[in-house]
Parts: sequence; C-alpha cells; structure tokens
Amino acid sequence: MSDKLTKQDATPRDASVAMVRAEDVHKSFGQVEVLKGIDLEVRPGEVFCLIGPSGSGKSTFLRCINHLEKINAGRLYVDGDLVGYRQSGDKLYELRDREVAMKRRDIGMVFQRFNLFPHMTAVENVMEAPVQVKGVGKGEARERAMSLLERVGLADRAGHYPSQLSGGQQQRVAIARALAMDPKLMLFDEPTSALDPELVGDVLDVMRDLAESGMTMVVVTHEMGFAREVGDNLVFMDDGVVVESGHPREVLTNPRHERTQSFLSKVL
Ligand code: ADP
Ligand code: MG
Repeated sequence: MSDKLTKQDATPRDASVAMVRAEDVHKSFGQVEVLKGIDLEVRPGEVFCLIGPSGSGKSTFLRCINHLEKINAGRLYVDGDLVGYRQSGDKLYELRDREVAMKRRDIGMVFQRFNLFPHMTAVENVMEAPVQVKGVGKGEARERAMSLLERVGLADRAGHYPSQLSGGQQQRVAIARALAMDPKLMLFDEPTSALDPELVGDVLDVMRDLAESGMTMVVVTHEMGFAREVGDNLVFMDDGVVVESGHPREVLTNPRHERTQSFLSKVL
C-alpha cells in the first residue's frame, strides 16, 4: 500500500463488522490501474452479486479479498481484519506467507474452471485440504466429504474421477471441496460460465441452497435470474469502479446509469 497505514487502520472505522469492507481500494498492474477506488460492504449472511463487462476488474477484486493480490491503496477488511496485515502493539506488520495461508483457509473460492485434482476421485478431492492442511484424520475427513457430496447431490459419484464427471458435476464437487474447509466466506468467480447451458441449473441450485443455509457469498456472475432471485445486493462494476449498486431487483429492473443500462441490454 502506498498510503501510510497506522494502527487505527487495523480495524474498520465503522463499528459494525462487515464480512468484506472495501474503502477506496486501488489496484494496478504496472502502469495499468484496474481497480480505481472500490467502496463496498458485504454483510454476514448476504449474497452479494458482482456483475460487469469483461475486464472491469471483478476477478481482480475477488483475488484481493482472497489474499491473492495486494492492493496499492485504500483499505480492505475481511471479517473485520485488514487484509494482508496484523497489528502488534502500535505497529502494523505485513503478514508472512504462512499467516496469509492461515487467513485463506477461511475463504472458499470457486472458479470458472473447476480445477479438481485429476488423479483423485471426487471424495478424495473433497477430503484433500482437511487432511493435508488441517490434519483431520482420513476416516473423519471421508465421512464429512461424503456428507458434503450428498449435499451437492453427488453421493453416488464419490468414487468417480473428474474426467468421468460432467462439467456441472465437477463444479459441484469443487463447491463441496471449498465447503470442506468450513469457510466463513465463499467467493464464486463466474462458476457457471464454462458450463453447457443444461448443466447450469444444478450448480445454481447448490448455490441457492448454500445461500439459504446462511453462507456469506460474493458471486461474480452473468446469471441475472440467480442474482435477482437469490441476491441480497448487486453491484455493477465497469472499468474499475462501482457504477451502481442496490437491491438486485431494483438495479436489474430500473438501472439508473447509462452504462448499466447498456450492459444489461446486452446480457438480459
Ligand atoms: P474481469 O474479471 O472483470 O473480467 P479482471 O479482473 O480479470 O476483469 O481484469 C481486469 C483487467 O486487469 C484486465 O484488463 C486484465 O487484463 C488486467 N489484469 C488482470 N490480472 C492481471 C495481471 N496479473 N497482470 C496484468 N494485468 C492483469
Ligand atoms: Mg473475471
């Protein structure tokens, strides 16, 4: 971060603890500024949808939340903690790699491409992180993995390898795998964009169930039906800024900004 941080920055100014809070977040790659001052707040239990044209900075923003990118200016908090820093006495210290890894355990991420381990079965994919990262016993991890596979409707596919599963099934395994770490926040980056249309519904159903269970979710999506029905909040991003935000039904039905209207006319 280029601007000076003090220990007052270790906690968000607003006393209410948001799951994610961005204050004037900037991110550049070299000379190219990709996030140009993002302000937003995701409350616990909320489904927060992020829409916008390709290249507007949506994935970059998710990667900043998930400690995969460092912001250049502004403040970003996850669950009340300043991302990338820890406070000790009067000072803020940048987190070491090991500490970042600890923080990342609490955040589940699901990508457009499912990224399952190809040489492991579905249940082995779901067990992997709890066993390797948390040291959970294999028996316990397998039992838990089976119940997660059941939750995403794939108990009968537990012994299948990713290559034996459809894209939609692989994506549901990927969701179960993320849930296996008991995240407090789930990030979805266009989870259905790579799927054949007939497979999209099953994945969205799993996400809907997850939302109903109270999970806090940030969802980058082009599925406006999902945003409208499941979303609590919707942000339209363009060219690194938040152009418009509000309740999904409101934004999708009555977009106020010309840029939002133009984008929606192309995707709806
Ligand atoms: P979106 O997800 O909205 O399509 P991205 O966050 O992926 O947008 O990308 C926003 C811009 O940042 C794009 O112009 C992209 O080329 C650029 N960008 C993303 N990651 C990098 C990187 N690691 N290095 C350089 N440029 C990047
Ligand atoms: Mg993207």
